[in-house]
Amino acid sequence: MTKTASSLACIALAAAALLGTAVSASAQEQVVNLYSARHYQTDEALYSNFTKTTGIKVNRVDADDAGILARLKAEGAASPADVILLVDAARLWKGDIDGLFKPIKSPVLEAAIPAKLRARESAEGTTWFGFSTRARVVVYDKLKVKKADVDTYEELADPKNKGLLCTRSGAHPYNLSLFGAVTEHLGEAKAETWLKGLVANMARDPKGGDSDQIKAVASGECGIALTNTYYLARIMRSSTPEDKAVADRVGVVFPNQETWGTHVNIAGAAVAKNAKNTANAVKFMEYLASASAQEYFANGNNEWPAVPKLKVSNPALQAMTGSAGGSFKSETIPISAVGKNQIKVQQMLDRVGYK
Ligand code: FE
Repeated sequence: MTKTASSLACIALAAAALLGTAVSASAQEQVVNLYSARHYQTDEALYSNFTKTTGIKVNRVDADDAGILARLKAEGAASPADVILLVDAARLWKGDIDGLFKPIKSPVLEAAIPAKLRARESAEGTTWFGFSTRARVVVYDKLKVKKADVDTYEELADPKNKGLLCTRSGAHPYNLSLFGAVTEHLGEAKAETWLKGLVANMARDPKGGDSDQIKAVASGECGIALTNTYYLARIMRSSTPEDKAVADRVGVVFPNQETWGTHVNIAGAAVAKNAKNTANAVKFMEYLASASAQEYFANGNNEWPAVPKLKVSNPALQAMTGSAGGSFKSETIPISAVGKNQIKVQQMLDRVGYK
């Protein structure tokens, strides 16, 4: 044997030995492979708690909603993904119609999660479940805007609010879902007129995330903005002087309390179509509906639990909804309805020039 050949043989032996270890380890070790779009650092505790109680290791891949769906499509049957965690109802809807999820039957989840916060049930089961909710609310500059002028989504497009409105990109899933809901409530023609009015009322071109809009309201650059509740709660719970100043300056409104209710979006999960660890995936989803995980959503990331029986004890969320006794009227359309309006909404945004 030449020197090269013998060292190659050594490498091959070593590789075989390594492979043997890996195979025997994976035969014993219980895992669940998670593709997650939740971008909240505090989620680490959520996952480690699951491992602590079940012994199932969570392997996590982080990407945004669109990135995860594209990756699942590209990987096809070879995908290692078991559970998909997304932060928007319309994306869950899209993953579902693209056939990326595996329907499951879980009496635990069916009992815990209200029907309006999950996919429609078929004979094979249900594809996705919402685990936490967040409202898309209006924040305004208390120094220059009256609450009564911004307490409906419709009024944001009224000429009286010209030059005041700031939002993140119209094409961001949080806005696409809100606009999809508005389209469901008002019909297509009125929704397009409304979007045109929003564009006419902009203080600046859309840029940044929701937190940036809140800060721009506090700095006086914008008078009105749209945000998910947890971004505002994070600022309200912060102890830095900058955040305290922001929290003092901005008011919050849960829009449309007298009409169809405030738009609510979800973070939710599904079992991947080609999951290899289906039983562990279902266990993980059932864990997300447990009291401890639901409590985490309320306090770790300032969201509302999807399980209606569980009480929230989050000071910022309570302060936000204070006068209403810690609750507010949310829209009653099934969350899956916003998904089917996505393509229409995107076309409307292009027509009205919403960046
Ligand atoms: Fe977010």
